[in-house]
Amino acid sequence: MSEVTIFGLGLMGLALAKAYHRGGVPVTVWNRTIAKAETLEPVNVVVAQTISEAIAASPVSIICVDDPNSVLTLFGNSQMDPLLDGRTIIQLSTSLPKQVRKDQTWLAERNADFLYGAIHCGPQELGTKDGNILISGPSTVYKLVEGLLSHQGGKIEYLGDDITAVSVLDLAWLSIRFGEFMGMLHASNICQSEGIELQKFISMFPDNARIQHHVGTIRDGTYDQRTATLSVWRASLELLKQQAVDAGMDAGFPNHVGGLFERAIKAGYGEEHVMALFKVLKGDGRTVD
Ligand code: NAP
Repeated sequence: MSEVTIFGLGLMGLALAKAYHRGGVPVTVWNRTIAKAETLEPVNVVVAQTISEAIAASPVSIICVDDPNSVLTLFGNSQMDPLLDGRTIIQLSTSLPKQVRKDQTWLAERNADFLYGAIHCGPQELGTKDGNILISGPSTVYKLVEGLLSHQGGKIEYLGDDITAVSVLDLAWLSIRFGEFMGMLHASNICQSEGIELQKFISMFPDNARIQHHVGTIRDGTYDQRTATLSVWRASLELLKQQAVDAGMDAGFPNHVGGLFERAIKAGYGEEHVMALFKVLKGDGRTVD
């Protein structure tokens, strides 16, 4: 028996599994594409062949996949119901407040506890003092997994019983990030189109690590070096669009930014750094309308 099962071995799921292994926590992993588990061989974790095996392996399961409905995608088969009984599920895949609420109810009907969390650091920071995860859900459940979560980093922040709190705040945080992206992209385009080196612009912000990193990526063209893919950012943007529609809000901002992401995906930049959007803005390479 493991202490925890990780569902998903993308950039983030892999980092979660490795942090547990480094912390000496027995871990089972499952991934839709099982071949990705091969990269874990050196760290010697148990690789589950089926979802049932993966749930049964541990009292606590952490999901981290690029699918906001992943609780149902993975567990929404009645054969899983007896396995879910008495288990704790922690959803770290980015999702919507209404989905998180539904997941909690659906799991409660199967006698499973539920917490929702948002990872607010890069994969390389998990398992270090800078590992940052926001968590919400019943405090009684949180207390039981607090020690387990603490292996993921020095900044595990519990935001209270309201299961939707983290999801709402994460969408708001993401909105800020997309605003920053658009500002940095447009600023870079201004500089380049007027013949000013990007390094001069970057030097105006010596204390801003995000400008240093993101505009530096455009300056160097290092779009293959990413901790989250452009596609994963686009999936979050879809959630901003959906939340705006659900809440009857103006969706102009996420719709506009979303159009740029669509063009970048069509141009084949989905697996690159989010700043590969710049190649679309510049009209470089494989740009498709
Ligand atoms: P990623 O590297 O693109 O990997 C995606 C993972 O999701 C893969 O394991 C993929 O399985 C799995 N997946 C996608 N759809 C699935 C489905 N329908 N059923 C089963 N598995 C499915 O993504 P990531 O960066 O690890 O991101 C995972 C989650 O973490 C996302 O919700 C993202 O928003 C969140 N997050 C990521 C970061 C980051 O810096 N990367 C930061 C904060 C939050 P296959 O291997 O079979 O394709």
